[in-house]
Amino acid sequence: MEESDTSRHFLRQWIDADVAAGRTGGKVVTRFPPEPNGYIHIGHAKAVCVDFGMAALFGGECHLRLDDTNPAKESDEYAENIKNDIRWLGFKWSGEGDSGEAGFYNASNMFDQMYAIAEELIRRGQAYCCNLGQDEWKEYRGVPDKPGRASPSRDTSPERNLEIFHDMRDGKYADGEWCLRAKIDMASPNIHFRDPVLYRIRHVSHYHLGDKWCVYPMYDFAHPIEDALEGVTHSMCTLEFEVHRPLYDWVVDRLDEQGLLVVRNGVKVRPQQREFARLNITWTVMSKRLLLKLVEEKHVAGWDDPRMPTVCGMRRRGFTPGAIREFCDRIGVSKMESESDPALLEWCVREELNRTALRRMAVLDPVKLVIDNFDGVREVELPNNPVDESAGMRKVPFSREIWIDRADFMEVPEKKFFRLVPGGEVRLRGACIVKCVSFEKDADGRISEIHCTWDEGSWGGNAPDGRKVKGTIHWVDCASGVPAEVRLYDRLFTDPDPMKEGSENYLKFLNPDSLKTVTAYVEPLLGDANPGESFQFERTGYFCADAVDSKPGKPVFNRTVTLKDGYKPA
Ligand code: ATP
Ligand code: MG
Repeated sequence: MEESDTSRHFLRQWIDADVAAGRTGGKVVTRFPPEPNGYIHIGHAKAVCVDFGMAALFGGECHLRLDDTNPAKESDEYAENIKNDIRWLGFKWSGEGDSGEAGFYNASNMFDQMYAIAEELIRRGQAYCCNLGQDEWKEYRGVPDKPGRASPSRDTSPERNLEIFHDMRDGKYADGEWCLRAKIDMASPNIHFRDPVLYRIRHVSHYHLGDKWCVYPMYDFAHPIEDALEGVTHSMCTLEFEVHRPLYDWVVDRLDEQGLLVVRNGVKVRPQQREFARLNITWTVMSKRLLLKLVEEKHVAGWDDPRMPTVCGMRRRGFTPGAIREFCDRIGVSKMESESDPALLEWCVREELNRTALRRMAVLDPVKLVIDNFDGVREVELPNNPVDESAGMRKVPFSREIWIDRADFMEVPEKKFFRLVPGGEVRLRGACIVKCVSFEKDADGRISEIHCTWDEGSWGGNAPDGRKVKGTIHWVDCASGVPAEVRLYDRLFTDPDPMKEGSENYLKFLNPDSLKTVTAYVEPLLGDANPGESFQFERTGYFCADAVDSKPGKPVFNRTVTLKDGYKPA
């Protein structure tokens, strides 16, 4: 892995120190733990880059673990897409795995063990069943600067607690009637330490285990167990979990007491948690719940709509894995909450596509130009990619009638307009110089056809007498050009902070013009574009053939990014 300044961050120093002190047993193991209840987005991509990136940097392993301990809303469709997206981002999980696939784990496969660990906590007097109602439970817990009160069942005997815990598992109680709590400290200034809930009753089917369980472990209990049993050394998550860290350590201590920590090369592996600031991006939302609502209410065409901040949406839009990784690297890792501008991500995309995308011509807002004195068909030779000679040349047919972009002609030119004007000359990219002799308008007063003559000595692009022609415009030959649907995407929201009036009001800021579809003409080679393939449409922007709707002969293109904007990274 390449090193950059931003990768020498505090997480790396933390792992460095553990490796040096021999605390990893010779192998750094991290994990990425998505919940399969939605598609992963650019924020998850950052966590993927950190989790997999750190493991790679230290020659270790990163596990992909589906954190499927919360039965509602999880599905295999989500699980499969998460895997697909991580592979596409360029990362591989490795290790032992618990499902026959190296490095791939389902947290739900540990339910038996988690339950047994909880039973052992009860036997040791470290956990008890509690039947306070939601409101009572909150009231007993108290507030940070005032100690809480003990639950009436805090001192129930282990035997009785085990009975209740088994009855909970066996379905004798309704949701919420009982729960299992850790017995820690009701006076702790850290509210998460005040006898937190470890298990709760939920009569909900699990997408893999069906109705096997009606009790499910809470995140704070399940996560350290998953980490410990998998032999994870470094567990990185977002800042909101910082206050949960003492509880994470408490659970790890109990596992140690129960002799459950993995021993690697003679070293007992104690997983540790550290937290970094989540990635926030302006002009979009990233909560899975809010993204799901956009999909369900059909404000977008699906999770992979190119306007979505999801990994599959970005892929469909034509963003590249390399650009996404570069973006995550540039924003870096810190403990300071901040907002990133999507313009930086777009800049990364542009930088990469400038190097790799084949150049083609496409006219998005076509108007016909007739060269009155041109006969026959000729071929123009143009580079596939001027910044990469190895990409070679391409041939583009040229004849008497061509399409040019409406914006490249001005009846009454503004100052500094160097393209086509009545009586003026312009160069047609790679072909010749033409002079506008007349034009026609339709009933609405719009230019409908432009007539030109060409300088017969200018084939190839230069005037025979050396006179200067400033403007060069792109074109598509009418006879051989192919009509194409082009989808022009803009920001999905009209405000940099769509949640500024609360998360329930974000739809109010949907941009009604976030998708504009036009019929364009494209040069013949684009007619057979491979779905997913990226191009630079000369003078226009970067586009990719839509992976779903584009068909050979009937191409559909998504605008990935415009050619330039004023943005420059700091
Ligand atoms: P949501 O709150 O929308 O349901 P989540 O964060 O709970 O999403 P998970 O599937 O639990 O989604 O997240 C998996 C991992 O990705 C977690 O370790 C989480 O910390 C990390 N993650 C999620 N969002 C971001 C983000 N915006 N920036 C960085 N990491 C993130
Ligand atoms: Mg979560």
